[in-house]
Amino acid sequence: MTTDHGYPAVRMYIAGEWCQGGTGRTAPIVNPATEEVIGQVPLATTADLDRALEAAEKGFRTWRNTSVAKRTQILHAAADLLTERAAEVGRIMTLEQGKPLAESTGEARRVADTLRWHIEDARRAYGRIIPSAPGTVLTVRREPVGPVAAFVPWNFPAGGPMRKISSALTAGCSIVIKASEETPATAAALVACFADAGLPAGVLNLVFGEPAEVSAHLIASPITRLIAFTGSVPVGKLLAAEAGKVMKPTLMELGGHAPVIVCEDADPAIAARRAAQAKFVNAGQVCTSPSRFLVHESLVEEFTAEFVKAAEAVVVGDGLAEGTKMGPLANERRLDAMIRLTGDAVAKGAKVLTGGERPDRPGYFFAPTVLTDVPANADLLHEEPFGPLAPIVPFTDLDEALRTANELPYGLAAYGFTRSAATAERLSDELEAGILSLNHCGGSVHEAPSGGVKESGYGREGGPEALDAYLITKRVSHLLA
Ligand code: NAD
Repeated sequence: MTTDHGYPAVRMYIAGEWCQGGTGRTAPIVNPATEEVIGQVPLATTADLDRALEAAEKGFRTWRNTSVAKRTQILHAAADLLTERAAEVGRIMTLEQGKPLAESTGEARRVADTLRWHIEDARRAYGRIIPSAPGTVLTVRREPVGPVAAFVPWNFPAGGPMRKISSALTAGCSIVIKASEETPATAAALVACFADAGLPAGVLNLVFGEPAEVSAHLIASPITRLIAFTGSVPVGKLLAAEAGKVMKPTLMELGGHAPVIVCEDADPAIAARRAAQAKFVNAGQVCTSPSRFLVHESLVEEFTAEFVKAAEAVVVGDGLAEGTKMGPLANERRLDAMIRLTGDAVAKGAKVLTGGERPDRPGYFFAPTVLTDVPANADLLHEEPFGPLAPIVPFTDLDEALRTANELPYGLAAYGFTRSAATAERLSDELEAGILSLNHCGGSVHEAPSGGVKESGYGREGGPEALDAYLITKRVSHLLA
């Protein structure tokens, strides 16, 4: 069933059934390109959450005892369905999140591949046999941790949920996932692929609700064995603290404020074009988005001119419109944050070279913005912008740039541009980040781990490391009678 906007009715998925919340409470879903309400998302009651928990407990037993061959077959069928449905999933995603259709459909296709990669990787989650005393078999086994409670945000409505779902299910865990109430239909479309592929009831449960209520309930429940969260640093700290009270492991994929260091020997035009391209992807709402541009003083003029040119070439519009390269911010909170951060920087002496404003049209749009002369005390240089703002800050020597890059409490992504192998090694050694890209600003890949250091969180998603949080390591020594 779809609404007038071509947007599907949203349901939760609990114990193998699509359902509304028990009290019929809902929240509106807004198209950020038009500010129109396009649907309603059901909000779970405590009783709904308890059903999901009970289902996940049963689902875990079922799934754990399903042969790896059968699991693999079901999960590959889900990935194939998702590939078939990618265009439709992409359209839904653009309606509720705003990103251009090419980015949305690309994300839907990519997450099918994320799932395929994890399916095959998990088939090799070997334990080991350790040489021991005669008559003793000493083994190390890797077992699924148990039912997982996962919380994902709205910036990658398919990518966020799939990272958690694919790791949990391929490890043999069941999962209760609370996707964002602002982008719920994409998550539901993803879950439908698993349901239609024959995933047993209870293995995957999708809920929405008041975030704090849902997380408090799912974390406190003795049924859940791992808390996996993607979102902001403050919420991550809150959930980690709640999990700590019941000694539950957590996986925390939080925000950052990624520095880009453009060294004296770099090509400023190439660096500017590559950095600008990455900056405006998803309107800057990416946890690894480059967000502090530290440029050697000898290159800053050329870098800035090229960056401004690239920013002004970005076609901003409704993600459904042909040719759009950047959509609106995903919600009003982000738009308000852009206005606040720009206003604060300008009040403290920064210059806006391009953008800096909300265009005169409905929707949560904010122009690609480049700022210079941004003083060190501007909020923009300390608070993750999570939007299309690019502050350019000159530096004199690399020691100073590294100090600035590392001075924030975050440590997710970092970028460097240099033609010197020695400088590249120095950046690799000294930048405090979990993800470093040199001479490009490419996105994440399935094969390699992503995650942060310092307040950006801990644990890794992607790569073989993704399984670590979802598996426990058990030592078994067996004295043969
Ligand atoms: P927020 O901190 O209110 O929410 C972030 C996410 O956490 C949302 O999906 C929200 O539903 C969820 N959430 C909030 N409180 C929760 C709780 N008590 N229990 C469980 N989930 C909860 O911020 P926001 O306005 O949605 O986003 C703004 C900031 O969040 C950004 O500035 C950025 O730093 C961060 N963020 C990071 C990522 C990431 O990929 N690391 C993604 C989205 C947002």
